[in-house]
Amino acid sequence: MRINKNFSNLKDDYFFYRVISKTKEFKAKNPDKKVISLGIGDTTLPLCEAVISAMQKSVLEMSKKETYRGYALEQGYEFLRLSIKKYYQKRGLDFEISEIFIDDGAGRAIAEIQELFSTNNKALIVNPAYPAYVDTNVIAGREIIFIEANEENLFLPTPSKETKGDIIYLCSPNNPTGSVYTKEGLKKWVDYALQNNAIILFDAAYEAFVSSKDLPRSIFEIEGARKCAVEVCSLSKTAGFTGVRCGYTIIPDELVFDNCKISKLWMRRQTTKYNGLSYITQRGAEAVFTDEGQKQNKKMVDYYKENVKIIHEGLDKIKIWNCGHGNSPYIFAKCPNGMSSWKFFDLLLNKISVVVSPGVGFGYAGEGFVRLSGFGDKDETAQAVKRFGKIEEFIS
Ligand code: PLP
Repeated sequence: MRINKNFSNLKDDYFFYRVISKTKEFKAKNPDKKVISLGIGDTTLPLCEAVISAMQKSVLEMSKKETYRGYALEQGYEFLRLSIKKYYQKRGLDFEISEIFIDDGAGRAIAEIQELFSTNNKALIVNPAYPAYVDTNVIAGREIIFIEANEENLFLPTPSKETKGDIIYLCSPNNPTGSVYTKEGLKKWVDYALQNNAIILFDAAYEAFVSSKDLPRSIFEIEGARKCAVEVCSLSKTAGFTGVRCGYTIIPDELVFDNCKISKLWMRRQTTKYNGLSYITQRGAEAVFTDEGQKQNKKMVDYYKENVKIIHEGLDKIKIWNCGHGNSPYIFAKCPNGMSSWKFFDLLLNKISVVVSPGVGFGYAGEGFVRLSGFGDKDETAQAVKRFGKIEEFIS
């Protein structure tokens, strides 16, 4: 028996471990200091009333023989796929429910869908990015080509003549940079994919944070995308489902490579490897898409976005370059005086007891930046931002 040696090519998980251990160490040495984290990637507000009551009702259904449900359909119950269909319809996008696949989160879907494609393909990944895009391709043994997101391209790279890649990972609004592609920007990627027989895996996990009407929330707002893109989405950040788990993947019928319908391949794969999402969760998810659920969850998203605004204004005040506010839960801030991500992390922790996420943890191009998140408590966020003034003397 031999192990998959590709695992030894993965970078250690030391980045998150180092954030946690540095914070722990600081707390132990400074028990009197209140440490506030602006590094949170998890949600903190409870599930909304509409979701809770739908889930409670479905728990009761499971308690009676007549309404008990066993294994769910691998693709997801029709009632939920219909709700998602209507959610897209309100934005002028139409899908058959057979093109919609329910799963337990965007993380799983984006990690696993690459299994459908040959390992001879090259993965094209924006750097910095959500780490799963890289790690899953390393495990598969695929060659990875990076396309750099930087200040110059406003963290929204587009393909050039030199761009080469078959499986393209795009995330908008982006984690960690908070940047959001315009329709023109996405169109360049769709055109590239169509011309080069490539596929786009579009991660829309943060689409609900987009409020500017002219910015796209789905790759399918771009003409031609049905022939070259898959969209993964999640209720994690938009409805607080990080611990409940529910996501969905849209695979249009027109998506065909090597004479294989990708939706058919994915369905075949799911029936082998996945036994469906729980009925209770799917009823909760259905409630997210009702008018009441949408209203309640919008309040939640607005709460996080207000935190982002507070952070953005605080950074502007001390003249730290930052981007991402407005249509995302994250801010990407440039470390002052050419400091490295870790040096600025240490400064913020040691001088004002604030924890952030070093940008370099999301890829080499994140070096020199930190990610700040709006997912915390509002009062604590405001308190942390007030402390920013105290670092002015170290950064000017
Ligand atoms: N995609 C991106 C860009 C993320 O930032 C995250 C989580 O932070 C995920 C996917 C995972 O989402 P889920 O909780 O639905 O698995």
